[in-house]
Amino acid sequence: MGLVLTEEQTLLKETASQFFQEKLPVANLRKLRDEKNADGFERSTWKEMADLGFAGVLVPESYGGTEFGPVGLGIILEQAGRTIASTPLLSTVLLGTTAVQLGGSQTQRQDILPAIAAGETIMALAVEEGPHHNPTQIATTATADGDNFKLSGSKTFVIDGHIADTLIVVARTSGEVNDSNGLTLFLVNTSGTDGLEITRTIMADSRNAANVTLKDVSVPASAVLGGVDGGWDVLEPVLDAGRIGVSAELMGLIQEAFDQTLVYLKERTQFGEPIGSFQALQHRAAEMFAELEVCRSVVLDALSALEERRNDVPSLASLAKARLSEASKHITNECLQMHGGVGMTDEYDVGLFMKRARVAAATFGNAGFHRDRYAGLDGF
Ligand SMILES: Cc1cc2nc3c(=O)[nH]c(=O)nc-3n(C[C@H](O)[C@H](O)[C@H](O)COP(=O)(O)OP(=O)(O)OC[C@H]3O[C@@H](n4cnc5c(N)ncnc54)[C@H](O)[C@@H]3O)c2cc1C
Repeated sequence: MGLVLTEEQTLLKETASQFFQEKLPVANLRKLRDEKNADGFERSTWKEMADLGFAGVLVPESYGGTEFGPVGLGIILEQAGRTIASTPLLSTVLLGTTAVQLGGSQTQRQDILPAIAAGETIMALAVEEGPHHNPTQIATTATADGDNFKLSGSKTFVIDGHIADTLIVVARTSGEVNDSNGLTLFLVNTSGTDGLEITRTIMADSRNAANVTLKDVSVPASAVLGGVDGGWDVLEPVLDAGRIGVSAELMGLIQEAFDQTLVYLKERTQFGEPIGSFQALQHRAAEMFAELEVCRSVVLDALSALEERRNDVPSLASLAKARLSEASKHITNECLQMHGGVGMTDEYDVGLFMKRARVAAATFGNAGFHRDRYAGLDGF
């Protein structure tokens, strides 16, 4: 993909932009937060998004999807980032679809993909078990029990876990904690499943996550997604897609925070001048502008690699996630500071952008994790 969008992609960007500005502006997240909404997102708006084809962007047309592909989803996520919209785009459209596409049997694909595209099912990936991203540190076990498997363990930071119809649980069928071998992915139905407990967690960004505990949860062998012991072959590319998707969302978020700050610099006067006329602030704004340009190239390259199924997806996913995690911290800090004292208040959106940026920076690996992974992939 080039730096210039095609006509179809431009149209998608305009549609998405208009949708998020009108239907899910930042005020919507405030409302969900303030009324302590149990779902943390609006089901009716999600249905509208599905009707626009947003839920099926990665689902093949033969399964009822719109098949816009990863670049199309990146465009939508970027626009969602501009309004910090709370939707199951990451959990279901990106992670859920990618996992089922990569590991699903014919029956699983037939059962799940059309339902995702129609906005009728929500999925969540239950992988993390500690305070920091570490996808091989899996102690949750799955032991064979006749024709079934029994799952026991606990998961944290399960994005959209409390609203999911189906969890994709990463469990260990063999090997030791920290092995990438010996992992298996299971589809676990969240309704009426004995031994499964899901508790919503309220995070700094007011978005959706949950803790999950599994006590001898029994699932049939047909619930295995991908191969027994070979879950890493599905999990790693799914996580890379997630890392690139979060980076695309962060791109929209930092662009919006920057745009709003520029408006403020031109409006706010001090010593009889707009504060944007002061060189000290202009230099800082110019630095952010340059950083945004670099970020945009990195995200586009990662999305293109995903779309073209290139073999440099893992390193570009880490490059994008490391860069965007760092840039989003720097840019949201700068934007808040340039707003002066009011930036700290809840009335201004900039603080909400900062909070979402911090959580997104930790999601699927922070800058340190990804710098290390990038170096490792390059043979250092
Ligand atoms: C996806 C995700 C989302 C999260 N969202 C939230 C959230 O919304 N709210 C929330 O409260 N928590 C959240 N967390 C959890 C949070 O990131 C961790 O719990 C928290 O960072 C742990 O803090 P800590 O002080 O124990 O350790 P760390 O964050 O690991 O370290 C704290 C500081 O100590 C330094 N340090 C660490 N080790 C050493 C060392 N050996 N020598 C010198 N310096 C060291 C670090 O560089 C850092 O500056 C989230 C985590 C994830 C993975």
